[in-house]
Amino acid sequence: MVKETGYYDLLGVRPGATLDEIKRAYRRLALRYHPDKNPSEGERFKQISQAYEVLSDTHKRALYDRGGERAMKEGGLGSRGGSAGFGSPMDIFDFFFGGGVRMRGRGDRRGKTVVHQLSVSLEDLYNGTTRKLSLQKNIICRKCGGCGVREGAQRRCPKCHGSGMEVRIHQLGPSMIQQIQTVCSQCQGQGEWIRPRDCCLTCNGRKVVREKKILSVHLDKGMKDGQKITFHEEGDQVPGLEPGDIIIVLDQKEHPVFRRSGDDLIVRREISLADALCGCRQVIRTLDNRSLLLASQPGDVIRPGDLKCVPNEGMPVYRSPFQKGKLILQFQVKFPDPGWLPPDRLRQLQAFFPPQEEVMATEDTEEVELSDYTAHGGPGRRPFPGDPHHEDDFEDGTRQHVQCQTS
Ligand SMILES: [Zn+2]
Ligand SMILES: [Zn+2]
Repeated sequence: MVKETGYYDLLGVRPGATLDEIKRAYRRLALRYHPDKNPSEGERFKQISQAYEVLSDTHKRALYDRGGERAMKEGGLGSRGGSAGFGSPMDIFDFFFGGGVRMRGRGDRRGKTVVHQLSVSLEDLYNGTTRKLSLQKNIICRKCGGCGVREGAQRRCPKCHGSGMEVRIHQLGPSMIQQIQTVCSQCQGQGEWIRPRDCCLTCNGRKVVREKKILSVHLDKGMKDGQKITFHEEGDQVPGLEPGDIIIVLDQKEHPVFRRSGDDLIVRREISLADALCGCRQVIRTLDNRSLLLASQPGDVIRPGDLKCVPNEGMPVYRSPFQKGKLILQFQVKFPDPGWLPPDRLRQLQAFFPPQEEVMATEDTEEVELSDYTAHGGPGRRPFPGDPHHEDDFEDGTRQHVQCQTS
């Protein structure tokens, strides 16, 4: 049980979420609310970053789960102003996306990194493809070459002659003067000042123009959700700076049939009780549109929750695409409805099973009736851990149960 769910709610995940789910949620929201894309959502961006900072750290998360936001403050991880406060939202973002080349002070001669999300299907990641991504970026004005003025016009500030500083002289007494150096009031220290009529007509003196750019994004077989593809120096051009990078982050859409776990693909199949006992045949359409017939061995029994697999029919391994992971089938067994067989047929069926164990009823045995039980969480919630119907989470190591069919 957690004390508060505020940070979980901010990221839109449930309190028991895995680190992977938290990362995924942060990635999606951070890109949506980043100040570059959504300047009015700065506060939201900050909150998301704080929530991620806490929940992605085992120690901080445990502290938060136990004591809520208050414990975070008392534990020296106070919100703002404290000496050991939260990291800057931008630093968390940069660290997460591996950018870290934003403009920081004057020594940095590179423009900022821009991150875009690209929505891809599981088929795209299985087969590999090239996607065209259209975006707008600033490029140096070709007409004026990035100086912002018309040909032949003056761009040096007439007041400071380009130094950016002006010297004021105060007469303090008959033979005493004081020189004060200040930032030029005309050009604000830029050293450049362009008369409005001298501006380059193409860029209006802005030195850069917006241009549409098409990026070809090559998706290699086996790439993963969240994987980054960097286009070096394709970011906005700024006069006097090296352009920053564009980073494309892949966002895999959920697939209606397959769920991916590393290099493995998981399919859930519901089979009848008869198929579970007498053998079943399943046809699966692969992500490259082949048809696979999977048949269980005669005499094999499939129990609810059983996992079976086919080697080499999972996802291609990134940079080694001839190698593939496993295709894992997760079986659900559909039991017949109550009253499906009349009692005399039931007795016939009984004859196929091992003899029933004799139940001894003594004098002090009371006979009671069994009725259906529903947990408080409503239908669908399973009250017992370890229930075979319970959805297996492959991320945390239930894979030792997988049996492989080699034939
Ligand atoms: Zn221009
Ligand atoms: Zn000036």
